[in-house]
Amino acid sequence: MQQNTNKSTQLFRRGFGLKNEVVGTLEQEYSSKLVEFLKQHDNTMELGRFTIHIAEEFGFCYGVDRAIEYAYQTRKQFPDKRIFLTGELIHNPHVNRKMVEMGIKFLSGSYAEKDTLDSLTAEDVVVLPAFGVAVDELKRFKEIGCILVDTTCGSVLNVWKRVQNYARDGFTSIIHGKWNHEETRATSSQTQNYPESHFIVVLDMQEAEMVCDYIAGNGDKAQLLDHFKNAISPNFDPDVHLERLGCANQTTMLSGESLAIAERIGRAMREKYGEENLATHFRSFDTICSATQDRQDAIEKMLNEYPIDVMIVIGGYNSSNTTHLVEISEQKTSAYHIDDASCLFSVEELQHKPVTSREVVTKKNWLPDGEVVIGITAGASTPNVKIGEIVARLAQLQNLSIDELLGELSLA
Ligand code: SF4
Repeated sequence: MQQNTNKSTQLFRRGFGLKNEVVGTLEQEYSSKLVEFLKQHDNTMELGRFTIHIAEEFGFCYGVDRAIEYAYQTRKQFPDKRIFLTGELIHNPHVNRKMVEMGIKFLSGSYAEKDTLDSLTAEDVVVLPAFGVAVDELKRFKEIGCILVDTTCGSVLNVWKRVQNYARDGFTSIIHGKWNHEETRATSSQTQNYPESHFIVVLDMQEAEMVCDYIAGNGDKAQLLDHFKNAISPNFDPDVHLERLGCANQTTMLSGESLAIAERIGRAMREKYGEENLATHFRSFDTICSATQDRQDAIEKMLNEYPIDVMIVIGGYNSSNTTHLVEISEQKTSAYHIDDASCLFSVEELQHKPVTSREVVTKKNWLPDGEVVIGITAGASTPNVKIGEIVARLAQLQNLSIDELLGELSLA
């Protein structure tokens, strides 16, 4: 048990030493025998007319694993206290519903009821999510004196360190990410501790090009400020605050895109200030986390190794890393982002969320006739139990008995 030196706030960053007491429940609620079987059999399974391949890396990452375990430990440690999450613990509906079942309340988002930050007292426990919270929010919890359980992932903390260093050294952070994603809001807020430090968030190469155009002297100031109005620090002045730039990224972005954006911005700065002055005007570190990278690489590998007809990508619809897995898959095959097995209506019809859509849509004829090779992967916030249910559903759609299947696999 680790306690902060802050007198009014207890801050726990390493759980409560209750791992052994929660591990059984975690196994029961999130693991899958079918997935274990797949892992032990070359990630491949013949299922009627389907050949299933599952990616070599998929599902829960180390940060998510840890955040969930600490949430369960927190419930054990404080059985009689009110426990709150700032918002979703991770972007997976199954996991968040489990939090609700455990009596953990949400302060924001679709699982929130009536409680807000203003209703908290020093008696309450607040669990900070894997993607962290913004500086102001953390300050408020500390002022109230809440007991804090911090599950912020080490890879996110690593990005914060970069951004803090940029701010300290007078560099504006240019962050490749989604400005309204919890992690990016927390990351960009790290500049707040340094007076006169700034940030700008770019979503993709198109937005990076707009910034580069401005650096080259071709942009329109009012237009740029309007376009990025939600994605810049207060009082951001592109004439001043694009002179020294440090690149960082939300840990779950497309790694290839992040690298390309950093390279593009570096080129713009080189062209403007010259190679000899580049170090004074530009810094860059790749802050994509290894778990994100591994999951993205594993899809590429699977798509190169097997003739995948259809890719199923499982994860919450607001999960950034899951969406990127769909984008990678789409480059080579038909890919469908679904959040659980109930989306697979039949062999003719499924419900999924296209990358470019805010809504889920129904797709007819999603499977080819005859023998079909199906690839499966899942975002870093998707539990194995949800992946196993998809495999079971693919059996059920062909009238294969799940019990027989489990029996054949000696898993019943
Ligand atoms: S995706 Fe990466 S940064 Fe985010 S929680 Fe997982 S390991 Fe940590």
